[in-house]
Amino acid sequence: MANAVVFCSFDRGKDGLPAGAEEVLTLGRKLAAERGVDLDWVVLGPMSEAVAATASKLGVAHIDHMDDPALAELRPEAVIAAVHVYCRQASPGLVLMTQTFDARLVAPRAAARNGAGVVMNAVGIASKSDGITVTATAYGGDTRVEYDVAGPAVVGVVADSLLAEAAAVPSAPESRSIAVDLAGVQERVRVVQKAVTEGPRLEEAQIIVAGGRGLQEAQNYRLVEDLAAALGGMAGASRPIVDDGWTDSSHQVGLTGKITRPVLYIAAGISGASQHMVGCTAAKTLVAINKDPGAAIFKYAQYGIVGDCLEVLPELTKAVKGA
Ligand SMILES: Cc1cc2nc3c(=O)[nH]c(=O)nc-3n(C[C@H](O)[C@H](O)[C@H](O)COP(=O)(O)OP(=O)(O)OC[C@H]3O[C@@H](n4cnc5c(N)ncnc54)[C@H](O)[C@@H]3O)c2cc1C
Repeated sequence: MANAVVFCSFDRGKDGLPAGAEEVLTLGRKLAAERGVDLDWVVLGPMSEAVAATASKLGVAHIDHMDDPALAELRPEAVIAAVHVYCRQASPGLVLMTQTFDARLVAPRAAARNGAGVVMNAVGIASKSDGITVTATAYGGDTRVEYDVAGPAVVGVVADSLLAEAAAVPSAPESRSIAVDLAGVQERVRVVQKAVTEGPRLEEAQIIVAGGRGLQEAQNYRLVEDLAAALGGMAGASRPIVDDGWTDSSHQVGLTGKITRPVLYIAAGISGASQHMVGCTAAKTLVAINKDPGAAIFKYAQYGIVGDCLEVLPELTKAVKGA
């Protein structure tokens, strides 16, 4: 158990499987084999059948389950406290988390509490004789950094950057129940309202028309929505107009929003700040509409329209509808 490589999951994604489980476990198995230690999976909160099936497919030695009423909703303070209890008992050498929104909150604080190092935004980890080298993105995805980490570490892994197909290595994982009492844990954040996440996901959209501050005012966001609808796509947005309430955060593209990979991305009145571009540079074709010919977005775009988006967007919508 001691110094194992551990995948720590505290969410239930599609089919009851935590986000990125297969990709991160595959990376974890490689690192565990190189270090000659076990690959263990600590599951916080309710357990799903998909966990056991995936663990036995991907070479997991132990499934360590921690449950407590405080973990039912997987709120951060309870999760951090549980990770602390686990690390105190099991002394893992390396804790891997899929870099989800919640992991960004949990990983650094869990690492600090356990006296471990932390690296977020990891896109690769290599073993070396005295620790690991973690390759991570930095500056909003503009560059890559290598961190040499000696000693225990918590690493937030961007699962999308790893192998999509996990190679099967069958195992018969032993299930262990790890006692934890979180009755005294107080959550510091109160959830006032949950964002609506029903319907199609921006991350999966093939066509996105996104608007930015160049739309001038909230009511003009409908020009973006109209073109998106005419093209059978979805509407996206830059952060400032989400912050100003022109649309809700499920439409935000970028570093602190959604990372999209559409076939076509039309950016209207968006300057091309790196934090926005992180979320759309994987688009096959990027079209920019901006009235400033020097706007940074034109460096990324395959097609550029220098003009007023308030005039260009309705014209494009008319042309698409007439086609
Ligand atoms: C830690 C951090 C995280 C961030 N995360 C994100 C993120 O996830 N997503 C995000 O988008 N941003 C993010 N930002 C903000 C980012 O840095 C930019 O401020 C933001 O992307 C700019 O939005 P914008 O392009 O809509 O506005 P602006 O930068 O104000 O650009 C408006 C553009 O519209 C053009 N324009 C003006 N009028 C017209 C018109 N009539 N017709 C055509 N063009 C016109 C202008 O020439 C300009 O290029 C983040 C910033 C930080 C520090």
